[in-house]
Formats: sequence, structure tokens, C-alpha cells
Amino acid sequence: MKNASYIFSSERRAFLINASIGSLLICATANVAAQDMLSENDTQATALGYKSDANNVDKSTQPKYAAGQACSNCALYRPSGSTAGMCTLFTGKQVSAKAWCNAWAKAY
Ligand code: SF4
Repeated sequence: MKNASYIFSSERRAFLINASIGSLLICATANVAAQDMLSENDTQATALGYKSDANNVDKSTQPKYAAGQACSNCALYRPSGSTAGMCTLFTGKQVSAKAWCNAWAKAY
């Protein structure tokens, strides 16, 4: 059994803080992984010409598109894994790393 000095010790405080931070990170990661993928048929996605595979972008209707552009190299993309991530334009949904929309902006 721990004595009273342990209960109020900085070692115990550090353990509790680290355990709390770890729990929060696990919850945040699970939340991102649980989010659905953005559909091309989503109203906002359609308005921005979103394609889940940039290779399927029709250059005749999306003249801003240039080969090599994809969510994975867009300034608005935050990867949550190797194949998908979050876009600041589409909250609550994940976008494919190989997707594209006409709001693409070069990441520096
Ligand atoms: Fe992808 Fe960028 Fe368009 Fe978001 S703004 S969907 S990250 S290309």
C-alpha cells in the first residue's frame, strides 16, 4: 500500500497527467478514424468539383486542375493516415489523399 507521501507526490501527479493526455490522444485518433469518407455526391463536394481520385478529374470542366495535384499535396489537407485525412473545407468527413477539388492550394 502506498503511503501518504506518494498520494501527494509529484511522481503520482505526473503519472495522472500523462495518463489523461494519453487517453485524450486515443479518443482524438479514434474519432478521426471513425469519420466517414466524403462522397462525390455531397452537395458541397459537387459544388467544388471534388473527385475521390484526381485521375478522374475532367479537365474540360475543371480547367484549374493540373496533373500531380491531389489532396495529399494541398495546403488544406491534414493527413490522418497514409490514404486519407481531413480537409478544412469539409468538416466531419475525411477526404482521400489522392482526391482533388477546385479549391486545391499548393502546400509549402
Ligand atoms: Fe483536397 Fe485541398 Fe480540395 Fe480539401 S481543398 S478537398 S484537401 S484538394
